[in-house]
Amino acid sequence: MMEEQGFESLPLSQDSFRELWESVVTPSISTIPPAPEVPQDTMYMMLMNDQVLADGFDEKLFELPPESSTKDGVVPPSSTVPVTTDYPGEYDFQLRFQKSGTAKSVTSTFSELLNKLYCQLAKTSPVEVLVSKEPPEGAVFRATAVYKKTEHVADVVRRCPHHQNEDTAEHRSHLIRVEGSQRAQYFEDPHTKRQSVTVPYEPPQLGSEMTTILLSFMCNSSCMGGMNRRPILTILTLESPEGQVLGRRCFEVRICACPGRDRKTEEENNTKTQNGTKQTKKRKSAPAPDTTAVKKTKSASSAEEEDKEVFVLHVRGRERFEMLKKINDGLELLDKEHNTRSKVSVKQQVPLPSCGKRVMHRGDRSDSD
Ligand SMILES: [Zn+2]
Repeated sequence: MMEEQGFESLPLSQDSFRELWESVVTPSISTIPPAPEVPQDTMYMMLMNDQVLADGFDEKLFELPPESSTKDGVVPPSSTVPVTTDYPGEYDFQLRFQKSGTAKSVTSTFSELLNKLYCQLAKTSPVEVLVSKEPPEGAVFRATAVYKKTEHVADVVRRCPHHQNEDTAEHRSHLIRVEGSQRAQYFEDPHTKRQSVTVPYEPPQLGSEMTTILLSFMCNSSCMGGMNRRPILTILTLESPEGQVLGRRCFEVRICACPGRDRKTEEENNTKTQNGTKQTKKRKSAPAPDTTAVKKTKSASSAEEEDKEVFVLHVRGRERFEMLKKINDGLELLDKEHNTRSKVSVKQQVPLPSCGKRVMHRGDRSDSD
């Protein structure tokens, strides 16, 4: 669903920057057939550029060296890929979230429609837990985060280096925290390196039918070197003291600056998609006074007609606007060169001028020029 969104929903799209990046770097310089007359040093420059471009967007750029942390306590049951299917079990394990709505000020809100929690960084999200009967003495709740998409599921969810470095807690690398309990325990599986937090089961207080767990998430979904815009699921399990899973519930989590707005937008997009009337135009939210509009066209890989459609993107903040504008300008330039190249493609079979100027001007400018 996320991938289908165009530029108009850039602030929400998890993959847009990566797609952008890839669409910028994909047309490699080496696609120009090198002519035999091109001098050696020019060839070298081409290779250099090609190497840099081929590396693409390095997601591990900001990663920290693996830390060795040994935690005491019970070793949690390890499975390489955590199970993410709901399993109420014999205790009829259920979750409930407070109805927080989609007001601008809301710091945590849950979408029943998308089974997705939207919350702000480090803000408390109360999760109400219901069981139909008393679990065995010493039972615990365990919260684990896992990447939602198959291609990322093998990666362990951890905080980004920046946020880890700011934190002095022993469990500083843990994304999910349990607030308001001295009995929360943080684990890292010695084999899978997956991190989790447990809190002992407590029966509901008198007059209440559920227990509340306070979760908080300590990175934004967009944190570079951490989640890096990859969607995550939180797995909440009820476990026996021996670590046997008695019940399991999963929900998606997005940690962002505007939970209310993002929930609203994603729910609307979901409804549109379901109705088969997915629209590629307009975001409804009223633009802020200082909003700057920028013309956007889709990347070169899109279909011809779609390419001609012009989208307007509202960007908050000049710095971000300038950045996006640069990307757009780059794409425009690529498009232009693409067209030029396809028109002169026959000519290009003819050896290039011996000075290699054509190649140079496609490169990052040469000192000898
Ligand atoms: Zn972070």
